Amino acid sequence: MKKKIWLSSPHMSGNELKFVNKAFETNWIAPLGPNVNGFEDDIQNYLQEDVFVAALSSGTAAIHLGLILLGVGKDDEVLCQSMTFSASANPIMYLNATPIFIDSERDTWNMCPELLEEAIKDRISKGKKPKVIISVHLYGMPYKVDEINEVAKRYDISVLEDSAEALGSTYKGTKCGVFGDISILSFNGNKIITTSGGGALVAHNISFKEKAIFLSTQARDSATHYQHSEVGYNYRMSNVLAGIGRGQMMVLDERVASRRKKYNTYAEELSNYNEISFLDEIENNYSNRWLSCILTAGYNKREKIRLELEKENIESRPLWKPMHLQPIFSKFPSYVNGVSEDLFNKGLCLPSGSNLTTEELNRVISKLKNCIENL
Ligand SMILES: *Cc1c(COP(=O)(O)O)cnc(C)c1O
Repeated sequence: MKKKIWLSSPHMSGNELKFVNKAFETNWIAPLGPNVNGFEDDIQNYLQEDVFVAALSSGTAAIHLGLILLGVGKDDEVLCQSMTFSASANPIMYLNATPIFIDSERDTWNMCPELLEEAIKDRISKGKKPKVIISVHLYGMPYKVDEINEVAKRYDISVLEDSAEALGSTYKGTKCGVFGDISILSFNGNKIITTSGGGALVAHNISFKEKAIFLSTQARDSATHYQHSEVGYNYRMSNVLAGIGRGQMMVLDERVASRRKKYNTYAEELSNYNEISFLDEIENNYSNRWLSCILTAGYNKREKIRLELEKENIESRPLWKPMHLQPIFSKFPSYVNGVSEDLFNKGLCLPSGSNLTTEELNRVISKLKNCIENL
């Protein structure tokens, strides 16, 4: 069997162990400590806006706390991009709120602003104004920020920006992760940088950050004994893992450059095949190209390519299956135009890791060319 080529695997820089060792030397083996604060500062500095960052145990935890901070409770409606990973939508269920799914547009594969407005009007006419919009920069490609924010503002609805896949991407030159009333990041093992597992909540005021930390550390009131007047969570990031994050932040720009280079190589090498297409960056957008994706001519051809790659021990994966087509979510209302279902049928994510060697990338490309010629 040939050596496995992964879709996206962790890529350490060597700096991480210094911070992790420091945590061991000083015995800060806890969900607090200097690495946690340092990592939050590193992210704040990187995002370059007036933001306040709370480091948490996962991106999913950040979405859960973000929805709580934005006031979502039982039976509230939350508008959520349908084309995404389930972690964008699951926290709506944790709160016994109702997800309402919105389909995508072709330019970025993200939430369609027109359909969003249509949905809001329809929900209001049915008697309830949605509380929050969860929009996602899928595969690192920024969504139409101005258009989404304009609709949100017109109807006075908060935006939770799911930037789990888009750390290092920019929209109009501003880093993704600062465009929501609350934004979230993920440092899961397959993301552009990782702490093995982790996430962050990004807010524009310190009180949201403080409240997120309060809720993530079991909601302890200030008292000498343990006193609680709210439901708390155990969602704070560990000081050991934050050490990995500090090392990873030092190479984030290199990781973005490397992923973009992989994407450009695929796009160039496969440019002669008419039945394969790529998602170009539209004006305003700069993608971290977290995953390089192609669109094929249809479901059967996409599966054929995926299975051929698998035979060569090369991992590839269909695009996210839209939430409105998932068994767990299909009973909820959705506003659909067919775009995300079509993308799911045709789309394939290719090995994209910043640690892919030139030989590995060439192995993938030559196998791909061979498959496409024999479709
Ligand atoms: C990875 C991811 C999340 C969840 O992050 P975790 O840190 O794995 O909990 C949320 N949304 C999207 C779009 C993601 O890709």
